[in-house]
Amino acid sequence: KAKYLTKVIDINKLYLEQIINEGDIVVDATMGNGYDTTYLAKKVGKNGFVYSFDVQEQAIQSTSKKLEKEGLSSRVKLILDGHENMDKYIDKEISCVVFNLGYLPRAKHMITTKPNTTIKAIENSLKLLKPHGVISLAIYTGHEGGLEEKNHVYNFVKNLNQSEFNVLECKFINQINNPPELILIEKKKEY
Ligand code: SAM
Repeated sequence: KAKYLTKVIDINKLYLEQIINEGDIVVDATMGNGYDTTYLAKKVGKNGFVYSFDVQEQAIQSTSKKLEKEGLSSRVKLILDGHENMDKYIDKEISCVVFNLGYLPRAKHMITTKPNTTIKAIENSLKLLKPHGVISLAIYTGHEGGLEEKNHVYNFVKNLNQSEFNVLECKFINQINNPPELILIEKKKEY
């Protein structure tokens, strides 16, 4: 639980706690070391399901170990492919998609998310979301290419039609050193 108001990631969790229900089908668009995937698998319970994507084998391995340890493997599909292809794997309505953009800390290769594929993944997510489903995007600008990606994402989401989507920006405006920023998008109806 968030105790102090210092990180957007904690604000994100406070919000996700409210909107994800047992039995939901959700997506972790950036699996990494599996912290979010594990969190989501616990939240959706034994009747829910998590699709989790990453382009690095290392992410699959470490996430798979975490899930096994917690006895959660059967409610998660780990997919070694880009989130931009999520529509090839998911044919059901989903209630939440979590993006944690940027690179995997301590990984062998500096593989970061990229503007074009991130936008395509957001577009796909918007289509797959059920009404009142939510996309959460944690955005980091401190690494090379991070600011460019943020600008692309902002340009895309700020032009989403207000009658179809609610788009919220959340950021600490008095913190130094490029603190992460959060965007939450709620789908209002079918489009
Ligand atoms: N949420 C993760 C966790 O709980 O550990 C951390 C995610 S990390 C900041 C970003 C991840 O996005 C990296 O593991 C990277 O390999 C992955 N990534 C990069 N491009 C991707 C793509 N096109 N599709 C899916 N994942 C991608």
